[in-house]
Amino acid sequence: MCGIFGISNNKEAARLTYLGLYALQHRGEESAGIVARCGKKVNQFRGMGLVGDVFKEREIKSLKGDMGVGHARYSTTGSSNPKNIQPFLVRHKKSHIAIAHNGNLVNTYQLRNELECKGSIFQTTMDSEVIAHLLARSQNESTEEVLVNSLRELEGAYSLVMMFNDLLIGARDPLGWRPLCLGKLDNSYVLASETCALDLIQAQYIRDVEPGEIVIINKDKIKSINISTRSLFPTAKHAYCIFEYIYFARPDSNIFGHNVYQTRKNLGRELARECPADCDIVIPIPDSGNYAALGFSEASGIPFEVGMIRNHYVGRTFIQPSQIIRDFRVKVKLNPIREVLKDKRVAIVEDSIVRGTTSRIRVKTIREAGAKEVHMRVSCPPLRHPCFYGIDFPTKKELIASKRDIKWIKNFIGVDSLEYLSLEGMLKAMPIPKERFCTACFTGDYPTKLPKKLGKGILE
Ligand code: 5GP
Ligand code: MG
Repeated sequence: MCGIFGISNNKEAARLTYLGLYALQHRGEESAGIVARCGKKVNQFRGMGLVGDVFKEREIKSLKGDMGVGHARYSTTGSSNPKNIQPFLVRHKKSHIAIAHNGNLVNTYQLRNELECKGSIFQTTMDSEVIAHLLARSQNESTEEVLVNSLRELEGAYSLVMMFNDLLIGARDPLGWRPLCLGKLDNSYVLASETCALDLIQAQYIRDVEPGEIVIINKDKIKSINISTRSLFPTAKHAYCIFEYIYFARPDSNIFGHNVYQTRKNLGRELARECPADCDIVIPIPDSGNYAALGFSEASGIPFEVGMIRNHYVGRTFIQPSQIIRDFRVKVKLNPIREVLKDKRVAIVEDSIVRGTTSRIRVKTIREAGAKEVHMRVSCPPLRHPCFYGIDFPTKKELIASKRDIKWIKNFIGVDSLEYLSLEGMLKAMPIPKERFCTACFTGDYPTKLPKKLGKGILE
């Protein structure tokens, strides 16, 4: 998962890109990078860590230019390599290509193999590098041809923000897994993963980049072309990632044309109707469960309470006194309020269960705080299948619901009852028709062929 951002025709390009990434921090906390273009010169700065830690005034000042492309990267297992920090920048002949990619390609291995056979030398393990090679390889073609011919080779999920010489490019794969929106700030076009980034820089939302669309921005002019790889797929369907609405995107953003907060609240309402709980209070697991819990409370009439408080200052690098205090990492983040929970029958609303390990510890602390009964309600169905399109779920082995039934999970987590929203209920709560979504993590029904070469153990 990642957050991507780009802006053109603006003297403050790097600073605005920094702000855009700051708003998109939730999409990737591992590393951040910005590439800025000044005349024919390209400047870059990248580093491991949060956007605010990587970039200080000095770095932003050094990134001169009127076009900026930025990337905030999510940590994916085994890839915490500074080489993999994006945007990926290549200089080829006289051209510069910088790529910020959100998503995951499913034919990387094949493409890479083909390119290597033709003499390409790869520097990283990122699938985004394949895109750079495809773009650099095309010769004697117009920019539009280069873009279309390169992108139509790709299969899988990609939302892209790219610097292609003096052009700013935005693109979304034909099935549209990941969000990407277009905005405007005075005479500058802006591309961002989510609208919360536009809000922060006071840019106006224009529209989403459509699935299969490439937008080519030349200073203050914009042109739109179609990747039209639809022939690769059996039908002209879409595959918007439903997990963006459930967990990933920021609630103040609008993605796929609709507000995330309202959708999550709606999931909570549907959950209350489908899986009622005879309880005294409803509490969320903050912060991601807040919105579904509000909806659950509204539809059930059970009072909403905040039963645990989040410490917002827990960074990634704090020292863990693991021997002295058990479960420190989870405990330091959330602390229960005894006075709210004592002797109560509590319905906990959670947006999703992945491994079940944090839920288990949360439930334990809620019981220790005096709750009489604990009933868990989850605002999506059991997550059973790995994602090949950019969400960094663990392997099938680690997804608790992949091989275990709900009763087993209930006992593992230690609740008096556990119920998940059904697939139909989840789809009903969505603001757009169900045919538009990729629900593969719940159903195993993948919209593309599976990748030829899979990561070790991913399907085990
Ligand atoms: P579990 O109990 O499965 O260990 O953790 C469940 C929690 O993980 C939920 O609160 C949910 O919001 C959160 N979660 C769901 N998907 C992701 C993800 O992709 N990354 C992170 N960091 N947390 C996630
Ligand atoms: Mg959560």
